Amino acid sequence: MPKYHIVTFGCQMNKNDSERIAGLLSGIGFSATDVESEADLILMNTCSVRQSAEERIFGKMKDYKELKEKNSKLIVAVTGCMAGRDHDGALKKRLQYVDLFFPTRDMVNLPRWIAELRPELANGNGAEVDYLKIRPLRLPSAQAYVTIQTGCNNFCTYCVVPYARGLESNRPVRDILQEAQEAVDGGVLEITLLGQAVNAYRAPDPESFSAENPFSDHFAALLWEINQIERLERLNWTAAYPSNMTDEVVAALGLPKQVRFLHLPVQSGSDVVLKRMNRKYQRRQYLDIIGKIKGRYPDFALGTDIIVGFCGETDEDFAETVDLYERCAFDISYTAQYSERSGTLAVKLHKDDVSVETKRQRWNTLQALMEKIVLEKNQAYVDKVVKVLVEKVEGGKASGNSEHLKLTIFDSDDGSLVGKIVPVHIFEAQTWRLLGRLLS
Ligand code: SF4
Repeated sequence: MPKYHIVTFGCQMNKNDSERIAGLLSGIGFSATDVESEADLILMNTCSVRQSAEERIFGKMKDYKELKEKNSKLIVAVTGCMAGRDHDGALKKRLQYVDLFFPTRDMVNLPRWIAELRPELANGNGAEVDYLKIRPLRLPSAQAYVTIQTGCNNFCTYCVVPYARGLESNRPVRDILQEAQEAVDGGVLEITLLGQAVNAYRAPDPESFSAENPFSDHFAALLWEINQIERLERLNWTAAYPSNMTDEVVAALGLPKQVRFLHLPVQSGSDVVLKRMNRKYQRRQYLDIIGKIKGRYPDFALGTDIIVGFCGETDEDFAETVDLYERCAFDISYTAQYSERSGTLAVKLHKDDVSVETKRQRWNTLQALMEKIVLEKNQAYVDKVVKVLVEKVEGGKASGNSEHLKLTIFDSDDGSLVGKIVPVHIFEAQTWRLLGRLLS
Protein backbone atom coordinates (compact mmCIF):
# COMPACT_ATOMS: atom_id res chain seq x y z
CA MET A 1 0.00 0.00 0.00
CA PRO A 2 1.53 3.39 -0.93
CA LYS A 3 2.12 5.79 1.92
CA TYR A 4 1.74 9.53 2.41
CA HIS A 5 3.12 11.90 4.99
CA ILE A 6 1.45 15.33 5.42
CA VAL A 7 3.11 18.25 7.21
CA THR A 8 0.71 21.07 8.06
CA PHE A 9 1.70 24.65 8.86
CA GLY A 10 -0.55 27.51 9.91
CA CYS A 11 -4.17 27.88 10.80
CA GLN A 12 -7.07 25.59 11.61
CA MET A 13 -8.31 25.88 8.05
CA ASN A 14 -5.04 24.41 6.80
CA LYS A 15 -5.45 21.56 9.30
CA ASN A 16 -8.95 20.94 7.96
CA ASP A 17 -7.64 21.08 4.36
CA SER A 18 -4.99 18.50 5.30
CA GLU A 19 -7.79 16.25 6.61
CA ARG A 20 -9.42 16.54 3.18
CA ILE A 21 -6.15 15.67 1.42
CA ALA A 22 -5.82 12.67 3.75
CA GLY A 23 -9.40 11.69 2.88
CA LEU A 24 -8.64 12.00 -0.83
CA LEU A 25 -5.43 9.95 -0.60
CA SER A 26 -6.98 7.23 1.53
CA GLY A 27 -9.79 7.06 -1.05
CA ILE A 28 -7.24 6.08 -3.73
CA GLY A 29 -5.56 3.46 -1.56
CA PHE A 30 -2.84 5.39 0.31
CA SER A 31 -2.23 5.02 4.04
CA ALA A 32 -0.65 7.56 6.40
CA THR A 33 2.83 7.26 7.86
CA ASP A 34 4.58 9.35 10.50
CA VAL A 35 7.97 8.26 9.14
CA GLU A 36 9.05 10.56 6.31
CA SER A 37 11.59 8.10 4.91
CA GLU A 38 8.84 5.49 4.41
CA ALA A 39 6.57 7.80 2.43
CA ASP A 40 5.95 7.63 -1.33
CA LEU A 41 4.40 11.10 -1.16
CA ILE A 42 5.35 13.92 1.20
CA LEU A 43 2.98 16.86 1.11
CA MET A 44 3.51 20.19 2.82
CA ASN A 45 0.43 22.31 3.43
CA THR A 46 1.95 25.75 3.79
CA CYS A 47 1.24 29.07 5.47
CA SER A 48 2.19 32.51 4.16
CA VAL A 49 0.86 34.67 6.93
CA ARG A 50 4.35 35.77 7.97
CA GLN A 51 7.79 35.70 6.43
CA SER A 52 8.98 33.42 9.25
CA ALA A 53 6.31 30.83 8.33
CA GLU A 54 7.63 30.68 4.76
CA GLU A 55 11.25 30.50 5.91
CA ARG A 56 10.40 27.42 8.00
CA ILE A 57 9.05 25.77 4.88
CA PHE A 58 12.19 26.55 2.89
CA GLY A 59 14.17 25.09 5.82
CA LYS A 60 12.11 21.89 5.78
CA MET A 61 12.75 21.49 2.05
CA LYS A 62 16.43 20.82 2.77
CA ASP A 63 15.41 17.57 4.55
CA TYR A 64 13.29 16.53 1.57
CA LYS A 65 16.09 17.27 -0.85
CA GLU A 66 18.20 14.69 1.03
CA LEU A 67 15.33 12.19 1.03
CA LYS A 68 14.88 12.67 -2.71
CA GLU A 69 18.56 12.06 -3.29
CA LYS A 70 18.18 8.69 -1.52
CA ASN A 71 14.84 7.86 -3.17
CA SER A 72 14.38 9.46 -6.57
CA LYS A 73 10.81 8.10 -6.81
CA LEU A 74 9.64 10.10 -3.81
CA ILE A 75 6.97 12.64 -4.75
CA VAL A 76 7.27 15.94 -2.89
CA ALA A 77 4.20 18.19 -3.09
CA VAL A 78 3.54 21.69 -1.77
CA THR A 79 0.11 23.26 -1.42
CA GLY A 80 -1.57 25.87 0.79
CA CYS A 81 -1.15 29.63 0.84
CA MET A 82 2.43 29.72 -0.43
CA ALA A 83 1.45 27.94 -3.62
CA GLY A 84 -1.77 29.92 -3.85
CA ARG A 85 -0.12 33.32 -3.72
CA ASP A 86 2.87 32.54 -5.96
CA HIS A 87 1.45 34.19 -9.08
CA ASP A 88 4.86 35.10 -10.52
CA GLY A 89 6.50 31.74 -9.77
CA ALA A 90 9.21 33.27 -7.55
CA LEU A 91 8.52 30.97 -4.59
CA LYS A 92 8.36 27.84 -6.74
CA LYS A 93 11.76 28.72 -8.17
CA ARG A 94 13.24 28.45 -4.66
CA LEU A 95 11.69 25.01 -4.16
CA GLN A 96 13.68 23.03 -6.71
CA TYR A 97 12.96 19.55 -5.41
CA VAL A 98 9.21 19.91 -5.49
CA ASP A 99 7.28 17.77 -7.98
CA LEU A 100 3.81 19.23 -7.40
CA PHE A 101 3.09 22.83 -6.42
CA PHE A 102 -0.59 23.77 -6.37
CA PRO A 103 -3.12 25.99 -4.61
CA THR A 104 -5.41 24.25 -2.11
CA ARG A 105 -8.49 24.17 -4.35
CA ASP A 106 -6.54 22.17 -6.97
CA MET A 107 -6.07 19.22 -4.60
CA VAL A 108 -8.84 17.49 -6.58
CA ASN A 109 -6.22 16.81 -9.29
CA LEU A 110 -3.88 14.90 -6.96
CA PRO A 111 -4.97 11.39 -8.09
CA ARG A 112 -4.29 12.28 -11.72
CA TRP A 113 -0.95 13.94 -10.99
CA ILE A 114 0.22 11.02 -8.87
CA ALA A 115 -0.80 8.62 -11.65
CA GLU A 116 1.26 10.64 -14.15
CA LEU A 117 4.35 10.62 -11.92
CA ARG A 118 4.02 7.10 -10.48
CA PRO A 119 1.47 5.06 -12.47
CA GLU A 120 2.06 2.07 -10.19
CA LEU A 121 0.66 4.05 -7.22
CA ALA A 122 -2.62 5.41 -8.60
CA ASN A 123 -4.81 5.18 -11.69
CA GLY A 124 -5.98 8.80 -11.75
CA ASN A 125 -9.57 8.08 -10.70
CA GLY A 126 -11.26 9.46 -7.62
CA ALA A 127 -11.32 13.18 -8.38
CA GLU A 128 -14.04 15.58 -7.16
CA VAL A 129 -14.70 18.88 -8.87
CA ASP A 130 -15.04 20.93 -5.66
CA TYR A 131 -12.37 20.25 -3.04
CA LEU A 132 -14.81 21.12 -0.24
CA LYS A 133 -16.87 18.08 -1.25
CA ILE A 134 -13.98 15.75 -0.38
CA ARG A 135 -14.76 13.97 2.88
CA PRO A 136 -12.10 14.81 5.51
CA LEU A 137 -10.26 11.94 7.17
CA ARG A 138 -10.31 12.85 10.85
CA LEU A 139 -8.37 11.19 13.62
CA PRO A 140 -10.75 9.92 16.32
CA SER A 141 -11.56 12.94 18.47
CA ALA A 142 -14.47 14.62 20.22
CA GLN A 143 -13.64 17.83 18.34
CA ALA A 144 -13.91 18.59 14.64
CA TYR A 145 -13.40 21.54 12.32
CA VAL A 146 -15.95 22.14 9.60
CA THR A 147 -15.07 24.64 6.86
CA ILE A 148 -18.09 26.68 5.77
CA GLN A 149 -16.31 29.21 3.58
CA THR A 150 -12.99 29.73 1.86
CA GLY A 151 -11.35 32.83 0.36
CA CYS A 152 -12.08 36.41 1.32
CA ASN A 153 -13.39 39.63 -0.25
CA ASN A 154 -12.09 42.02 2.38
CA PHE A 155 -8.58 42.73 1.06
CA CYS A 156 -7.06 43.94 4.30
CA THR A 157 -3.91 45.56 3.00
CA TYR A 158 -1.49 43.38 5.02
CA CYS A 159 -3.10 40.04 4.12
CA VAL A 160 -2.25 37.42 1.50
CA VAL A 161 -5.44 35.37 1.87
CA PRO A 162 -7.50 36.91 -0.97
CA TYR A 163 -4.55 36.23 -3.32
CA ALA A 164 -3.73 32.80 -1.91
CA ARG A 165 -7.26 31.44 -1.55
CA GLY A 166 -9.19 33.65 -3.95
CA LEU A 167 -12.46 35.45 -3.39
CA GLU A 168 -14.99 34.32 -0.82
CA SER A 169 -16.85 31.15 -1.66
CA ASN A 170 -19.45 29.66 0.67
CA ARG A 171 -20.44 26.02 1.02
CA PRO A 172 -24.08 25.00 0.68
CA VAL A 173 -25.99 24.67 3.97
CA ARG A 174 -26.94 21.07 3.13
CA ASP A 175 -23.24 20.05 2.69
CA ILE A 176 -22.25 21.74 5.96
CA LEU A 177 -25.10 20.10 7.88
CA GLN A 178 -24.30 16.72 6.38
CA GLU A 179 -20.62 16.99 7.34
CA ALA A 180 -21.53 18.20 10.85
CA GLN A 181 -24.04 15.36 11.28
CA GLU A 182 -21.48 12.77 10.12
CA ALA A 183 -18.93 14.17 12.55
CA VAL A 184 -21.42 13.91 15.43
CA ASP A 185 -22.38 10.38 14.34
CA GLY A 186 -18.66 9.57 14.61
CA GLY A 187 -18.55 10.74 18.24
CA VAL A 188 -17.76 14.45 17.88
CA LEU A 189 -19.14 16.65 20.70
CA GLU A 190 -17.64 20.00 19.70
CA ILE A 191 -17.63 21.52 16.21
CA THR A 192 -15.67 24.62 15.21
CA LEU A 193 -16.88 26.31 12.03
CA LEU A 194 -14.11 27.79 9.91
CA GLY A 195 -14.06 30.68 7.48
CA GLN A 196 -11.85 33.69 6.75
CA ALA A 197 -14.68 36.05 7.69
CA VAL A 198 -16.93 33.31 8.96
CA ASN A 199 -19.87 35.50 9.91
CA ALA A 200 -20.03 36.95 6.38
CA TYR A 201 -21.42 33.54 5.38
CA ARG A 202 -24.02 33.70 2.57
CA ALA A 203 -25.77 30.43 1.83
CA PRO A 204 -25.81 29.49 -1.85
CA ASP A 205 -28.89 27.37 -1.00
CA PRO A 206 -30.99 29.42 1.48
CA GLU A 207 -33.95 27.15 0.68
CA SER A 208 -32.12 24.52 2.78
CA PHE A 209 -32.81 26.45 5.99
CA SER A 210 -35.73 25.02 8.00
CA ALA A 211 -39.06 26.83 7.83
CA GLU A 212 -39.01 27.32 11.62
CA ASN A 213 -35.52 28.88 11.64
CA PRO A 214 -36.01 32.27 13.37
CA PHE A 215 -33.03 34.05 11.73
CA SER A 216 -32.77 35.82 8.39
CA ASP A 217 -29.01 36.54 8.65
CA HIS A 218 -27.53 33.49 6.93
CA PHE A 219 -24.73 32.94 9.43
CA ALA A 220 -27.05 33.19 12.44
CA ALA A 221 -29.46 30.85 10.62
CA LEU A 222 -26.66 28.35 10.05
CA LEU A 223 -25.75 28.46 13.75
CA TRP A 224 -29.39 27.75 14.60
CA GLU A 225 -29.50 24.76 12.22
CA ILE A 226 -26.34 23.26 13.69
CA ASN A 227 -27.75 23.80 17.19
CA GLN A 228 -30.55 21.37 16.24
CA ILE A 229 -28.12 18.45 15.76
CA GLU A 230 -28.77 15.96 18.53
CA ARG A 231 -25.80 14.84 20.64
CA LEU A 232 -23.71 17.84 19.54
CA GLU A 233 -22.74 19.61 22.76
CA ARG A 234 -20.67 22.60 21.70
CA LEU A 235 -20.43 24.95 18.76
CA ASN A 236 -17.55 27.34 18.20
CA TRP A 237 -16.53 29.44 15.16
CA THR A 238 -13.60 31.41 13.92
CA ALA A 239 -12.64 33.94 12.59
CA ALA A 240 -15.37 36.56 12.73
CA TYR A 241 -15.18 39.96 11.05
CA PRO A 242 -16.46 42.90 13.15
CA SER A 243 -18.63 44.50 10.44
CA ASN A 244 -20.53 41.24 10.05
CA MET A 245 -21.49 41.02 13.73
CA THR A 246 -25.15 41.81 13.05
CA ASP A 247 -27.69 41.94 15.86
CA GLU A 248 -28.90 38.50 14.79
CA VAL A 249 -25.39 37.04 15.05
CA VAL A 250 -25.08 38.60 18.51
CA ALA A 251 -28.45 37.04 19.38
CA ALA A 252 -27.25 33.66 18.08
CA LEU A 253 -24.39 33.77 20.60
CA GLY A 254 -27.13 32.90 23.11
CA LEU A 255 -28.03 29.60 21.37
CA PRO A 256 -27.67 26.70 23.79
CA LYS A 257 -24.68 24.94 22.19
CA GLN A 258 -22.61 28.07 21.58
CA VAL A 259 -19.37 28.04 23.60
CA ARG A 260 -19.06 31.00 25.95
CA PHE A 261 -16.22 32.49 23.93
CA LEU A 262 -15.95 34.80 20.95
CA HIS A 263 -12.86 35.50 18.87
CA LEU A 264 -13.24 38.86 17.14
CA PRO A 265 -10.06 40.18 15.49
CA VAL A 266 -9.68 43.96 15.89
CA GLN A 267 -6.08 44.39 14.58
CA SER A 268 -5.72 47.98 15.88
CA GLY A 269 -7.45 50.42 18.20
CA SER A 270 -6.60 53.43 16.00
CA ASP A 271 -8.99 54.57 13.26
CA VAL A 272 -6.07 55.90 11.22
CA VAL A 273 -4.34 52.52 11.28
CA LEU A 274 -7.59 50.61 10.68
CA LYS A 275 -8.16 52.72 7.58
CA ARG A 276 -4.63 52.08 6.37
CA MET A 277 -5.23 48.36 6.93
CA ASN A 278 -8.50 48.64 4.93
CA ARG A 279 -10.46 47.24 7.86
CA LYS A 280 -14.04 48.33 7.18
CA TYR A 281 -15.04 49.43 10.69
CA GLN A 282 -13.94 52.02 13.17
CA ARG A 283 -12.86 51.73 16.77
CA ARG A 284 -16.24 53.06 17.99
CA GLN A 285 -18.15 50.36 16.08
CA TYR A 286 -15.91 47.64 17.45
CA LEU A 287 -16.36 48.88 21.01
CA ASP A 288 -20.14 49.04 20.49
CA ILE A 289 -20.24 45.38 19.40
CA ILE A 290 -18.18 44.30 22.40
CA GLY A 291 -20.46 46.44 24.61
CA LYS A 292 -23.52 44.62 23.24
CA ILE A 293 -21.93 41.23 23.83
CA LYS A 294 -20.83 42.07 27.36
CA GLY A 295 -24.26 43.53 28.14
CA ARG A 296 -26.05 40.43 26.95
CA TYR A 297 -23.54 37.72 27.95
CA PRO A 298 -21.47 39.11 30.83
CA ASP A 299 -19.60 35.84 31.37
CA PHE A 300 -18.34 35.54 27.77
CA ALA A 301 -14.58 35.18 27.30
CA LEU A 302 -13.19 37.27 24.44
CA GLY A 303 -10.28 36.79 22.07
CA THR A 304 -8.78 39.00 19.38
CA ASP A 305 -5.94 39.40 16.87
CA ILE A 306 -3.76 42.50 16.87
CA ILE A 307 -0.94 43.63 14.59
CA VAL A 308 1.56 45.98 16.20
CA GLY A 309 3.95 48.17 14.24
CA PHE A 310 1.82 48.38 11.10
CA CYS A 311 3.01 50.99 8.58
CA GLY A 312 2.92 54.47 10.08
CA GLU A 313 1.68 53.36 13.52
CA THR A 314 2.63 56.16 15.94
CA ASP A 315 2.93 56.06 19.73
CA GLU A 316 -0.53 57.70 19.86
CA ASP A 317 -2.01 55.07 17.57
CA PHE A 318 -0.55 52.33 19.73
CA ALA A 319 -1.85 54.03 22.89
CA GLU A 320 -5.35 53.78 21.35
CA THR A 321 -4.83 50.05 20.86
CA VAL A 322 -3.79 49.69 24.50
CA ASP A 323 -6.83 51.70 25.56
CA LEU A 324 -9.16 49.55 23.45
CA TYR A 325 -7.54 46.42 24.84
CA GLU A 326 -8.22 47.58 28.41
CA ARG A 327 -11.83 48.52 27.62
CA CYS A 328 -12.55 45.15 26.00
CA ALA A 329 -10.54 43.22 28.63
CA PHE A 330 -9.70 40.40 26.23
CA ASP A 331 -8.93 36.99 27.65
CA ILE A 332 -6.49 36.29 24.85
CA SER A 333 -4.85 38.16 22.01
CA TYR A 334 -2.82 36.68 19.18
CA THR A 335 -0.52 39.62 18.65
CA ALA A 336 1.77 39.80 15.64
CA GLN A 337 4.58 42.21 14.85
CA TYR A 338 3.90 43.49 11.33
CA SER A 339 6.08 42.06 8.59
CA GLU A 340 5.78 42.86 4.88
CA ARG A 341 4.28 40.18 2.66
CA SER A 342 5.12 40.51 -1.00
CA GLY A 343 2.14 40.99 -3.28
CA THR A 344 -0.04 42.65 -0.64
CA LEU A 345 -1.51 46.13 -1.00
CA ALA A 346 0.39 47.31 2.10
CA VAL A 347 3.69 46.77 0.30
CA LYS A 348 2.47 48.83 -2.65
CA LEU A 349 0.73 51.59 -0.67
CA HIS A 350 2.59 52.03 2.62
CA LYS A 351 6.05 52.05 4.08
CA ASP A 352 7.09 49.52 6.73
CA ASP A 353 8.56 52.35 8.80
CA VAL A 354 8.18 51.19 12.42
CA SER A 355 11.48 49.89 13.75
CA VAL A 356 11.93 46.27 14.77
CA GLU A 357 12.74 47.43 18.30
CA THR A 358 9.52 49.48 18.56
CA LYS A 359 7.48 46.57 17.25
CA ARG A 360 9.05 44.31 19.85
CA GLN A 361 8.39 46.82 22.67
CA ARG A 362 4.76 47.24 21.64
CA TRP A 363 4.33 43.48 21.43
CA ASN A 364 5.80 43.13 24.95
CA THR A 365 3.46 45.83 26.26
CA LEU A 366 0.36 44.06 24.95
CA GLN A 367 1.62 40.69 26.10
CA ALA A 368 2.11 41.97 29.66
CA LEU A 369 -1.31 43.65 29.60
CA MET A 370 -2.95 40.46 28.35
CA GLU A 371 -1.37 38.37 31.12
CA LYS A 372 -2.45 40.88 33.79
CA ILE A 373 -6.05 41.06 32.53
CA VAL A 374 -6.51 37.34 32.01
CA LEU A 375 -5.15 36.48 35.44
CA GLU A 376 -7.61 38.92 37.02
CA LYS A 377 -10.51 37.64 34.93
CA ASN A 378 -9.73 33.99 35.66
CA GLN A 379 -10.26 34.60 39.39
CA ALA A 380 -14.00 34.72 38.62
CA TYR A 381 -13.93 30.95 38.01
CA VAL A 382 -12.60 30.09 41.48
CA ASP A 383 -15.21 28.18 43.47
CA LYS A 384 -17.34 27.72 40.36
CA VAL A 385 -18.08 24.53 38.47
CA VAL A 386 -17.05 24.44 34.80
CA LYS A 387 -17.76 21.77 32.19
CA VAL A 388 -14.59 20.35 30.69
CA LEU A 389 -14.29 18.46 27.42
CA VAL A 390 -11.41 16.14 28.33
CA GLU A 391 -8.75 15.94 25.64
CA LYS A 392 -5.91 14.20 27.45
CA VAL A 393 -5.20 12.10 30.53
CA GLU A 394 -1.50 11.76 31.19
CA GLY A 395 0.72 11.34 34.25
CA GLY A 396 -2.23 11.49 36.65
CA LYS A 397 -3.58 14.75 35.15
CA ALA A 398 -6.60 15.25 32.93
CA SER A 399 -6.94 18.36 30.80
CA GLY A 400 -9.33 19.99 28.37
CA ASN A 401 -11.21 23.18 27.68
CA SER A 402 -14.13 24.54 29.68
CA GLU A 403 -17.17 26.06 27.96
CA HIS A 404 -15.28 29.40 28.07
CA LEU A 405 -12.39 27.67 26.28
CA LYS A 406 -10.19 27.92 29.35
CA LEU A 407 -7.64 25.15 29.69
CA THR A 408 -8.64 23.28 32.85
CA ILE A 409 -6.57 20.64 34.65
CA PHE A 410 -7.61 18.18 37.34
CA ASP A 411 -6.17 15.05 38.95
CA SER A 412 -7.24 11.83 37.26
CA ASP A 413 -5.73 8.76 35.69
CA ASP A 414 -9.03 7.59 34.21
CA GLY A 415 -8.35 7.40 30.47
CA SER A 416 -12.03 6.72 29.78
CA LEU A 417 -12.75 10.39 30.49
CA VAL A 418 -11.11 11.42 27.18
CA GLY A 419 -13.81 12.69 24.83
CA LYS A 420 -16.33 13.26 27.62
CA ILE A 421 -17.65 16.47 29.15
CA VAL A 422 -17.29 16.41 32.93
CA PRO A 423 -18.00 18.90 35.76
CA VAL A 424 -14.93 20.30 37.51
CA HIS A 425 -14.87 22.47 40.62
CA ILE A 426 -12.20 25.16 40.28
CA PHE A 427 -9.97 25.89 43.27
CA GLU A 428 -7.16 27.91 41.64
CA ALA A 429 -6.90 30.26 38.69
CA GLN A 430 -3.59 30.84 36.92
CA THR A 431 -2.81 32.91 33.84
CA TRP A 432 -3.24 30.19 31.27
CA ARG A 433 -5.05 27.47 33.18
CA LEU A 434 -7.64 26.70 35.79
CA LEU A 435 -6.96 24.01 38.37
CA GLY A 436 -9.89 22.02 39.73
CA ARG A 437 -11.32 18.82 41.16
CA LEU A 438 -13.51 16.42 39.25
CA LEU A 439 -17.04 16.23 40.61
CA SER A 440 -18.70 12.86 40.50
S1 SF4 B 1 -10.70 39.55 6.65
FE1 SF4 B 1 -8.78 40.60 6.11
S2 SF4 B 1 -7.26 39.53 7.41
FE2 SF4 B 1 -9.06 38.20 7.33
S3 SF4 B 1 -8.66 36.81 5.61
FE3 SF4 B 1 -9.87 38.52 4.79
S4 SF4 B 1 -8.31 39.95 4.00
FE4 SF4 B 1 -7.26 38.53 5.38
